[in-house]
Amino acid sequence: MRGPQPRPELHSLAAHAAGRAGGAPTAELKHLLAANENPYDPLPGVLDAAVAAAGQFNRYPDIGCERLIDALAHRFDLPPARFAAGAGSVSVIQSLVQAMTAPGDEVIHAWRSFEAYPIITKAVCGATAVGVPLTDDGHHDLTAMADRITERTRLIFICTPNNPTGTTVRRDELAEFLGRVPENVLVVLDEAYAEFVRDEDTPDGITLCREYANVAVVRTFSKAYGLAGLRIGYAVAPESVAAALRMTAPYGVSQIGQEAAIASLAAEREVMHRVDAVITERRRMEDVLAEQGWPVTRSQANFVWLPIGDRGGDFAAACGRAGIAVRVLGTDGVRVTVGSPEANDLFLATAAEARLG
Ligand code: PMP
Repeated sequence: MRGPQPRPELHSLAAHAAGRAGGAPTAELKHLLAANENPYDPLPGVLDAAVAAAGQFNRYPDIGCERLIDALAHRFDLPPARFAAGAGSVSVIQSLVQAMTAPGDEVIHAWRSFEAYPIITKAVCGATAVGVPLTDDGHHDLTAMADRITERTRLIFICTPNNPTGTTVRRDELAEFLGRVPENVLVVLDEAYAEFVRDEDTPDGITLCREYANVAVVRTFSKAYGLAGLRIGYAVAPESVAAALRMTAPYGVSQIGQEAAIASLAAEREVMHRVDAVITERRRMEDVLAEQGWPVTRSQANFVWLPIGDRGGDFAAACGRAGIAVRVLGTDGVRVTVGSPEANDLFLATAAEARLG
């Protein structure tokens, strides 16, 4: 007799987990350029705040993340009621889909983009994911996305910068797009990589949250702030949505995470100094890869994207032999995180050889 069976949609989660590993024993690789992590060790003040909080881990964390939310509200000059925090932005995204959709409702997202959108929509929430292909140069096709809005559309994800292509949406095209979205549809700008953007035509999502009643932003402390292992993300959303998000995953953010995030906001200058260094390395990697003849897309995030189609597997295998983990995404290409200068040097030398081979 078969025992209790989870919903069949959850099979796609298993496939995702297998795809993440990509068959490669990443734990054994020395240079981890597969998960868009920050290459720097924790800032001393942030580590101290986390360690101090660890001494109290017999206690539950602050369920409302109040001090963290106050710090964010102060940072962005918006009311605390517009914020919600969660265990990484992926958990905030899940809460958003749960809060906004029922089975049969539709969620529009670009493809290829962050895999969590279709997985959470279909496998976790039982709603319908509508993936709209990127343009040939890896940008969101906002016209095509607006064309797919129906009466069942509840949510639209726009990933800017887009994971994995590193492209952003432009201010003018986004304004035109928002003009076509009905007011009952929530547009979520996933700005996990916002701090790495240097393109002046890219809009700031939090500014748009002030101007539009149906725009939300999701951000994270995992990337620029380097707290991936502590799992803290947040949303800026319309008050009614933010209130719903605060109810979906109680006690989701540990006190260690909350204190580290508060200390990171206080250390923003040092954080941004590190971000600048990552951007310098990003530009160097793109220049060298282009000189080597790779078809590299200019990125606004902390990774570079090589749209090399089904050559991705061989390329990643060559990187693996050199001790470097990179991320193959289907037969679309390979995404490489900007790491330490040493890791990047080794990656570029490996890419040069792979090109010749
Ligand atoms: N959004 C995007 C676009 C991402 O690439 C990621 C992580 N790869 C996330 C959200 C989730 O990050 P986290 O849960 O660590 O905040």
